[in-house]
Amino acid sequence: MVCVLLCFYGLSIHAQTTNQQVKRLQRAIFVYNFAQQVGWPNQVDATQFKIGVLGPDRAIIDFKSLAQKRNINNKPVTVVNFNSVKDVKDVQLLYVNKSFNFDINYILNKISGQNILLVTEDYNYHTTMINMVNVGDSFEYEINNKTIDKEGFKIANSLQQYAISSSQKWKDLYQNSEADLEASKKIEAEQQENLVTKDAEILSQKQQINTQESKIDTILNTVVTQDKWIETLSNQSELHKQRFEDKVKIEQDLEDNIKRQIEFIKSQDQNIISRNLEIQKQHNFIQNQIAEIETKEFILKQKESQLNTQKTINILLITLISLAVLGGILIYRSYLSKKKLNKKLKDKNAAIQKQSLELEIKNDELEQFAYIASHDLKEPLITITGLIDLLVEEYEDKLDDNGKMSLNFISQSSARMQKLIDAILQYSRLGKSKNTTNINCNSVISILKDDLKNVIDRTESTIITTDLPTIKGAELELRLLFQNLISNGIKFTKKGVKPIISIDCNLQSNVESVDYWVFSITDNGIGIPAKHKDRIFSIFQRLHSRDEYEGTGIGLAHCKKIVEAHSGRIWLDSEVGKGTTFYFTIPA
Ligand code: ADP
Repeated sequence: MVCVLLCFYGLSIHAQTTNQQVKRLQRAIFVYNFAQQVGWPNQVDATQFKIGVLGPDRAIIDFKSLAQKRNINNKPVTVVNFNSVKDVKDVQLLYVNKSFNFDINYILNKISGQNILLVTEDYNYHTTMINMVNVGDSFEYEINNKTIDKEGFKIANSLQQYAISSSQKWKDLYQNSEADLEASKKIEAEQQENLVTKDAEILSQKQQINTQESKIDTILNTVVTQDKWIETLSNQSELHKQRFEDKVKIEQDLEDNIKRQIEFIKSQDQNIISRNLEIQKQHNFIQNQIAEIETKEFILKQKESQLNTQKTINILLITLISLAVLGGILIYRSYLSKKKLNKKLKDKNAAIQKQSLELEIKNDELEQFAYIASHDLKEPLITITGLIDLLVEEYEDKLDDNGKMSLNFISQSSARMQKLIDAILQYSRLGKSKNTTNINCNSVISILKDDLKNVIDRTESTIITTDLPTIKGAELELRLLFQNLISNGIKFTKKGVKPIISIDCNLQSNVESVDYWVFSITDNGIGIPAKHKDRIFSIFQRLHSRDEYEGTGIGLAHCKKIVEAHSGRIWLDSEVGKGTTFYFTIPA
């Protein structure tokens, strides 16, 4: 079988080789046939027809082998091999093979006009003179009449007839050859496949044979051994037979023993199985216990975390309580210190109140004293004044000028003293009045204007008032207040300046305490230096001599006492040389 297959394979290779050889020969035949059916443009004198080859050595061998049998143009043929195009010379036909990559245009240029017929193989359509084309196991050819004519060759009709003349034919040929190629490829593949299968079959058969052979060997060996054993057995005596039977018995016993042991082992197995079951049970029990422990552990952990949370809360609570206690202590301490402070304040207030009460009492006493003193002084003063008047009446003619002057001086002084005593008396009486009424300030000012008419006219003063409110108070005292302030405004003016007095009033609302009327009396007088702002409200305080400005120094002290008796306040704003504004407040 193997031999058959090998033969078949060998045959197929041989067939292939033969095909290729035939085709190679065909190439040479084709080239020789071309040479015989072409007329060259120029006659060649040479005795031989030379074929040049730019191609494989095989082609040269083929051309040469055919040259021994055939003549061209009645001349023997010589075949010359060239390595490059530039070596080509003295040939009538040049064969060029495409697989050697010669540039056909270059070759055409090179051999142009040289009387050389160019036969190529497998070049592009119509690029050369005569081009052979591989088609399956044979060749086709095409003739490029353009180059043939150009170079002056004459092609026999028989050659033209079988040449390929259109591209479509090329295409058909190509497709046919492709199909042929495919078919042959398929066959080859199938053959290859068959070969492989056959190889495998051969291999397996070989293996089978080997196995069979080794089996036979074994059997033969066994047969030989058995033969020997039979021989030995037949040679042994009856004793041997007896021994053999004993042996068989012993073996029987052994077998029984083994059986018993097997039984025992089986029972042991059973035991082991039941123990395993027990162990499994125990294992399950332990698993359950573990699971239970894990659950308990989990619960414990949860409780622990709850405990931790509780602990944190407790710590926070303790911290909060501590903070609260600390805060409480601080508040309590601040409360205690406040209480202490309040007590101190209260004590101080009480002391102040006590002092002010004592002061009030002393003030009252002082005022009482002033009143009594001035009242008591008034009587002898009246007597003195009366006696002076008598002296002036009775004795003026008897006195010289000095005496008259002294008497006049005494009279003036006593009049002044009377004025002072009256003023002190008035001062001590002020603020005592309980008789408070509604007082229309506009009518108070109007009455005052009438009272002061002579002075106003003499000094050419102007008194301007806005609409003033009606206030509650002691009428006589408030009239005195306005009178003192207006009189001072008229009095304390620069010489040659006409006094202008403006009286105004505004309500000052106060959220925390009572509302106040704020009165202002402004003049264009000499002004008051800032350092004397407070001093001038004390009794008998004057800033000028009597020669400059007449007065007792008691007017502003009166004003302060009246305002304070009405629960108000008095102060001033002034610019020296420009004027002064006196302000006082009266509760609305
Ligand atoms: P008197 O007017 O009798 O001198 P007062 O008590 O009224 O006493 O005034 C005290 C002093 O204040 C005055 O002597 C004067 O120097 C000063 N004075 C008061 N009013 C004014 C004023 N309007 N302009 C400038 N000086 C004034």
